[in-house]
Amino acid sequence: MTNEKFKSEVDTLKKFYEKHCWDKHTNHKSLTKTLEYKGIKYDVELKLCKECHDLIDYSFDRLKNCPYEIKPKCRTCPAPCYDKPQWKQVAKLMRYSGMQFGLLKIRKFFARDKK
Ligand SMILES: [Zn+2]
Repeated sequence: MTNEKFKSEVDTLKKFYEKHCWDKHTNHKSLTKTLEYKGIKYDVELKLCKECHDLIDYSFDRLKNCPYEIKPKCRTCPAPCYDKPQWKQVAKLMRYSGMQFGLLKIRKFFARDKK
């Protein structure tokens, strides 16, 4: 995938992990992680609990090793690279956060509509 795509995938992971972790877990810790992809380094600041930090490292690793030039959605990937237990956890948190963001959008939409 392109570096732009990689960067946007990292941002999405960060957004979804943090939403879920902030709502569900305690003991958040800020850490800056440096990711390298195709010779370019990215600093990502993350505020997560210990377990989510570990899990997102796993997600970043999988993302870096994604063999597709045009990355499919992980959900519809023909060759899923996540191990089962991690996939279960990540699918759950993505679903949760996706729903929360979806609700926010709907609320904003109606708020705007009223004016
Ligand atoms: Zn967490």
